[in-house]
Amino acid sequence: MPAHVLLHICCGPCAIYPLRKLKSQGYEVTALFFNPNIHPLKEYLLRAEAAETVTEAEQVRLIRLDKEYNPTDYLRTTVYREEQRCLLCYQRRMERTRNIACKGGFDYFSTSLLFSKHQKHSLLESLGQSLNSSKCGFLYQDFRSGWRQGRSQAREMGIYMQNYCGCIYSEFERFQKELKIS
Ligand code: SF4
Repeated sequence: MPAHVLLHICCGPCAIYPLRKLKSQGYEVTALFFNPNIHPLKEYLLRAEAAETVTEAEQVRLIRLDKEYNPTDYLRTTVYREEQRCLLCYQRRMERTRNIACKGGFDYFSTSLLFSKHQKHSLLESLGQSLNSSKCGFLYQDFRSGWRQGRSQAREMGIYMQNYCGCIYSEFERFQKELKIS
């Protein structure tokens, strides 16, 4: 029996390489789209659709937690803690993944956030290790080695590729230079 991994996926482009890698290593993979950080809702839907396209192409089951997309709730946990927002954001998504994995009888949980060169990789790794459970372990892999490959596969597939991390703060940081502030 192959070991079963619940892979949290943050978006389509970041999911391709980890999904292919894990499958090539003999894991049975189920994907989980749980990203209440994404702002606004239209952006969330674009990324969810790209995740659908990728998982369909890879013949991987996708669980979408759309019912848990709640920007008010997300912001309440972040406001006044903006300095720590990435830690809180990772924690929320990885804890939920770990809990579903443990309850659902998965052997491991992991995240496609480990693919992105733009994420805080060592923070993700230590957070994952801290969530390790005897029921379902954190499967750490440095997927960044497939960065170029994964990005070019995403372009070939023609899926939506976002240009900011996800939350309202990251969108502001990405585009603030377009404001005409003298
Ligand atoms: S910058 Fe990215 S990881 Fe950090 S809080 Fe925003 S969406 Fe989450």
